Amino acid sequence: MTVSESPAVSAPGIRLPSAPPLALLLDVDGPVASPVTRDVKPGIIADLVALAAAGIPVIFNTGRSDAFIREQVMEPMIAAGIPAGTVIHAICEKGAVWFSYTSAGPGPIHVDRELAVPAAYGDDVRRLVAEDYAAHMFFDETKRAMVSVEQHINVPSADYLAEQKLFDAEAMELMARHGLGVVRLDHHAPNSDDEVDYRVDPTIISTDIESVRLGKDLGASRAVELLAAQGITPQAWRTVGDSRTDYAMADWLHHNDHSVKHVDVRPADGVPSKPYPVLTAADLGLEPTVIHDDAGGAFLRAWREALDA
Ligand SMILES: [Mg+2]
Repeated sequence: MTVSESPAVSAPGIRLPSAPPLALLLDVDGPVASPVTRDVKPGIIADLVALAAAGIPVIFNTGRSDAFIREQVMEPMIAAGIPAGTVIHAICEKGAVWFSYTSAGPGPIHVDRELAVPAAYGDDVRRLVAEDYAAHMFFDETKRAMVSVEQHINVPSADYLAEQKLFDAEAMELMARHGLGVVRLDHHAPNSDDEVDYRVDPTIISTDIESVRLGKDLGASRAVELLAAQGITPQAWRTVGDSRTDYAMADWLHHNDHSVKHVDVRPADGVPSKPYPVLTAADLGLEPTVIHDDAGGAFLRAWREALDA
C-alpha cells in the first residue's frame, strides 16, 4: 500500500489527499486503549499521529465520552506532534456526540439531543450507584447523551461482573418506573405502548444505557459524512473493534457500498460469517494470545510500515 497522491498545498493550510488509500474507523476501549489501565500506550499514539500525518483519515468511533477522548487520545496525540492541517474526528457516545481536533485542540462539541436518555432517569441511576454499588462501579459524569456506569479499576473483573448483573436488573426496573421501554441482550421489556426506545448494554468494564438508535453503525455513517464534508472519499476502510457490536461499523460501510475489512482484536467470542473480510492478529502472524491494544497496536504499526514501504 502506498499513498500515491501527494497532498496538494493550498494556503493557508495543507489539504489532505481527497482519495486516501485507507481510512481507519477505530473503536477505542480494547483496540486503542487498554481495558485494564484504560489508557493508551505511547507507541499507539505515535502510530496514530504518523498515519494521520500521512493523510490516512483516523476516526474514533467509541461509546466513550468526548472528555475521555480528549484526555486519553487527543492530548497525547497533540503532545506527540500532530502536523498543522491534519484533522482527527472523534465520534463519541456511539454516535450521539462528535467533535474534531487539530494540533490547536478540539473544535465545537456536537450533541444530538434527540438521542439522549431522559435526565430524570440518569439522576436516579446516579443515586442508585451512590447508594448501593459505589464499591464496585462509578457513574460516568462526562456522558452527555448516554448513562454509563463503569467498573473501578481496582475491583477484580469477576467481582465486578457478578455485581454488574444485579445493577443491570435494577437499571431495567428503573426504566419501567420511568415509563420507558427497554431491552437488554435477549430480554425485552416494552413500555405500556409496547415501545422499546432504550437498551441496557453491558460490556466487560461497564454498563451503557442508551437510545436504541445509537450504535457503531450510526458512528460509521457520521464518519463518512465528516470526511465528505472535507471532500475526502477513502478508497477503502479498515474498522477495528473488540466486541461483536463493533462489526456494525463494517456492516454499515459494506451495506453502503464502501470497501471495508474489519479487524477483530478479541476474536475469542468467535468470528461471525460476514460478506467482507475479517482480520485477526493471526493474519499478522501473531499468536492468538495477542489481543486488545496489543493486537490493535500491531495493526496500526503494520499500516504505518506499509506507508513507508
Ligand atoms: Mg471496545
